[in-house]
Amino acid sequence: MKNIARVAIPVPIHEAFDYRIPDEMLGQIVPGTPVLVPFGPSRRYGWVIEITDHSVHPKLRKIHSVVEDGATLSEELLTLLDWTANYYVCGIGEAIETALPKPVRERKVRQVRWVRGLEGALPDEKGGGADARNRVLEFLQQHPKPVPLRRLVEDCGISDSPIKTLAKKGRIEIFESLPPEFGVPGESLADSIPWDQPAPFEPNDEQQTAIARIREQIFLEKYQTFLLHGVTGSGKTEVYIRAAQTALAAGKGVLVLLPEIALTPQAIERFTERLGPVAVLHSMLPDTERAVHHERLRKGEVKLAMGARSAVFAPVTDLGLIVVDECHESSYKQENSPRYHARDVAVMRAHQLGIPCVLGSATPSMESLENARQGRYEKLNLENRVSNRDMATIEIIDRRKEKGTGDSSGLLSRRLIDLIRQTLDREEQVLLFLNRRGFARDVHCRQCGYSFRCNSCDIPLTYHKHRDIAQCHYCAEQRGIPDRCPQCQFTGLRQRSPGTERVEETLVSLFPEVRVDRLDRDTVTSGRRMEQILQKFRDGETQILVGTQMVAKGHDIPGVTLVGVLDADVALGLPDFRSAEKTAQLLCQVAGRAGRGDAPGRVALQTRQPEHYAIECAVRQDLDELLEHENSVRQMLHYPPHGFLARIVFEDEDEKRTLETAEALTSKLKVEGENRVQVLGPAPAPLEKLRGRFRHHVLLKSNSRESLRIVGRLAQTEKPRWSSTRITLDIDPQNLL
Ligand SMILES: [Zn+2]
Ligand SMILES: [Zn+2]
Repeated sequence: MKNIARVAIPVPIHEAFDYRIPDEMLGQIVPGTPVLVPFGPSRRYGWVIEITDHSVHPKLRKIHSVVEDGATLSEELLTLLDWTANYYVCGIGEAIETALPKPVRERKVRQVRWVRGLEGALPDEKGGGADARNRVLEFLQQHPKPVPLRRLVEDCGISDSPIKTLAKKGRIEIFESLPPEFGVPGESLADSIPWDQPAPFEPNDEQQTAIARIREQIFLEKYQTFLLHGVTGSGKTEVYIRAAQTALAAGKGVLVLLPEIALTPQAIERFTERLGPVAVLHSMLPDTERAVHHERLRKGEVKLAMGARSAVFAPVTDLGLIVVDECHESSYKQENSPRYHARDVAVMRAHQLGIPCVLGSATPSMESLENARQGRYEKLNLENRVSNRDMATIEIIDRRKEKGTGDSSGLLSRRLIDLIRQTLDREEQVLLFLNRRGFARDVHCRQCGYSFRCNSCDIPLTYHKHRDIAQCHYCAEQRGIPDRCPQCQFTGLRQRSPGTERVEETLVSLFPEVRVDRLDRDTVTSGRRMEQILQKFRDGETQILVGTQMVAKGHDIPGVTLVGVLDADVALGLPDFRSAEKTAQLLCQVAGRAGRGDAPGRVALQTRQPEHYAIECAVRQDLDELLEHENSVRQMLHYPPHGFLARIVFEDEDEKRTLETAEALTSKLKVEGENRVQVLGPAPAPLEKLRGRFRHHVLLKSNSRESLRIVGRLAQTEKPRWSSTRITLDIDPQNLL
């Protein structure tokens, strides 16, 4: 008799747990049903993933109850989540928890409105507590639509008792209803936007070709991943929208993923105007609201879902198309367990369902480009900007050729200062970009650009001041720093460079008559603050904006005609095998910021390594050539996409314990890995101390995914040398710091 349920519980153990199904629940429980089960001394939520008639455990506890109103998982999602847990080596329950809002009993929200006939009645309460009651009535006078009770309490600064009193007196009523339909905070888009709007313009030939290919695949109902490679401003969104229209018209569901930072009301509006109702899922959404969106999708009431990373698991019914915009963005990779990459999960989901998946980017990752080169993805190119607007002209400023510097910080060349002045004279705006994450610790020659790299890993060595040595953060190799540059004999090797704050100061003294602002992690404490700084820039209140990589991300500011990249070499110095790729991507993205208005744009790149292929490829916006260079290095050293990588991080407040745990485990990993998995380290992680914990890491390289997973799993199953040491395993790591 099939009365045993395998239940996935959100704990970091891959296996599910067996429970007996009580007779009265037999018909009620199917795979995907959320249940409450006894777990140790307490009760936990879990999801039934399988129903079976046998268990290796002789004595089973019983399922306590089915979670009423809990989110049920479809078979399709269960398969996908099982794959995710397997691939990323995490608990199946953890994976499900990421995909679903927590089961909530109380999904409805208490709201307050006038009793019919008394709308807008005067606040004229008397007696004890009249003050608070009048405040409530005043507030409601100004807000004719129902107001959530919680908001009323907060905005009026009262308890809920005056509201209840008013309700008892029959002046207002409290009722329950579902929260507003759309996920955009504070605004219900359903009422405000007429959808089914005509397209603003006809797609150009390239766009039409791309649309036609994707449409064909939608109708064929066959798996195919497309890599939509389009320069900034080439109209990728129009391709997504038209492909989505096709799928929706055929009665299918559509899933669109955007990086969190791009999920702005404007972006959502662009889709809803043309495609109709959408369920928006992002991390800021409370569980209750997420639950409502999930239910609408599950019932098929809404067929289009948009969201950030975790929306890749959205329960869209009859899914017919998945779009991943800005697919190169590192925010698609989750940095805590389960450490999944939403782009890769999206491709897997499309594969399982037999539907097309569109990955769009102006700067695809080397992995995506290599997949396209090998024919696993089909490449669709958009090489022309919409309305044939010219790309910005890129000028290289070779810092080695300049005697002395243009300013006291040493970051602005005379040429760049001239360009800034000319731009300001034309009353246009300047965006300056300094990719400095407080991490400029690589050793390179400031005169000739020579960079110290590890012989076996080909990543830049990091300088350690207290020991006066340079170390590789992959294999731990150490080297002394000579007094003179081996290439040009320059003697200033150990100097560090100043950051954004210093540049801002310098600009203020150089151009006292204009307004300079700064956008980096120090000035941006919240999303709202960032929007304020950008809005001032957009309004022309600020003439020069200096910022870190934050300014590179898709912000459209029409008045900007000069983009200056102060130090194009910084990202090249990061101890990361992707440093050249990331440099080229960033420079391409930054260059895309210039000249999106009517005036033509100019980009000035200051560099000491103008002949470095990453810089040359960025100038030509030629990522295929970059791929060729990268392939030659990565093939030799077995870095992705020519080998699989995993990373294990060890963290402890005690430095000695961190290293001891790391060393003990590493020797076991080396035995287990034999010659199938190369184990590098332990080495200090580039970020050696984070939030009071010392960090070491180990890298695993292999040509076999399965071997890598088997060895990696030891990090979770082996008892650590010190129990205080936190050990985390990351498959396909993006962040190596
Ligand atoms: Zn030198
Ligand atoms: Zn090394």
